[in-house]
Amino acid sequence: MQSTTYSLDSIRSDFPVLERKVRDNKPLVYLDNAATTQKPIQVIDAITDYYKNHNSNIHRAVHALAEESTEAFEATRGKVAKFLNVADTREIIFVKGTTEAINLVAYAWGRDNVQKGDIVVTTEYEHHSNIVPWQLLTQETGAELKYIDIDENGELMLEQLDEYLATGKVKLVAVSHVSNVLGTITDVKEIIKKCKNADAKILIDGAQAVPHMKVDIGNLGCDFYAFSAHKMLGPTGVGVLWARKEILEKMRPFLGGGDMIREVHKYETTWNDLPYKFEAGTPNVADVICFTAAIDYLTKIGMDNVRNHEIELTKYALEKMSKVKGIVIYGPKDPEKQGGVISFNFKDVHPHDVATIVDKNGVAIRSGHHCAQVLMEKLEVPATNRASFYIYNTKQEVDVLIDSLDQVAKVFKL
Ligand SMILES: *Cc1c(COP(=O)(O)O)cnc(C)c1O
Repeated sequence: MQSTTYSLDSIRSDFPVLERKVRDNKPLVYLDNAATTQKPIQVIDAITDYYKNHNSNIHRAVHALAEESTEAFEATRGKVAKFLNVADTREIIFVKGTTEAINLVAYAWGRDNVQKGDIVVTTEYEHHSNIVPWQLLTQETGAELKYIDIDENGELMLEQLDEYLATGKVKLVAVSHVSNVLGTITDVKEIIKKCKNADAKILIDGAQAVPHMKVDIGNLGCDFYAFSAHKMLGPTGVGVLWARKEILEKMRPFLGGGDMIREVHKYETTWNDLPYKFEAGTPNVADVICFTAAIDYLTKIGMDNVRNHEIELTKYALEKMSKVKGIVIYGPKDPEKQGGVISFNFKDVHPHDVATIVDKNGVAIRSGHHCAQVLMEKLEVPATNRASFYIYNTKQEVDVLIDSLDQVAKVFKL
């Protein structure tokens, strides 16, 4: 926040919803950013502008509106590529979200490259969307699914990956860049190095990374990378799969239909070029186009400033939270080793009761299993509470959270 470009007041004034009062006129304190982020006025205006002035289908007609929409749609592709330092825009595929991106890989790549006896590796802290597609794939093919466990700090025990890779049977390692529950930042560079040496492909679920830190796919060296627009100020229903061109070219299509074909005959079809081969049917034109406004917004702030702001908030929150009576905090508990996500519980208090009490003060946190039941089993809890920060959150908001947590401790006599 030392940077002159980071003005919290001016950022907050761009988000209309932050003026909301909830629950008996309490100012909204929105700390559920790992689920989805709020949208700045620039993104909201872009959506209205699109439907007011440009709405049309893309890649088909030659009329003026179709040309404008097609150009804007492809401009977003270019913007995404630049944001992630990807040189070839054909490697950027628009999908519905992280979930669809991972399923695309599991079906269109997995069904042809993973066989009986092969191993797919994932981790104990994955979101369900980076577990279930691999369960389906390995069950269908007779391959084996293996997990990298976490240690008591919520960090991956990478020696286990070495053991799996030593078998020579690992075809794919699928791992999240940042855990959506513990906040743990995965050492993806190290994992990629290990995978390269063992000739295994690597997929990274970046749903909690791209919104919060600089991600340089061009220099990372992974094979697949997935994320969602709605967790980075953008609209719902838009996500990105990045994959190496050589891999995409060899892959069969995922969905069949319009736009993904070159020629269709009664009994045979040839595929369109990349990336269209993987974008069947009318895509989410409006929301893809508006995603540009979100990327512009983050670019203007600067991803290093976004990360620094979250480090500062997380440090502040961890210090204060650790003093709340009866609280148990999960994960690294180190702002340098985690994203702006803190999971916690109170001994013997159900997380839903905690979330209900803090909600009375206008504070939105998440309680539940966070689509990570494998991790809940590991932690031996049914659920946790989770506070997650973004560019517009303030230390004063953290104070409101802490006061509310002190109330929880009081109500339950901890
Ligand atoms: C949110 C999330 C997903 C799923 O994203 P969708 O937008 O729901 O498809 C996957 N992985 C992680 C780590 C997430 O946080």
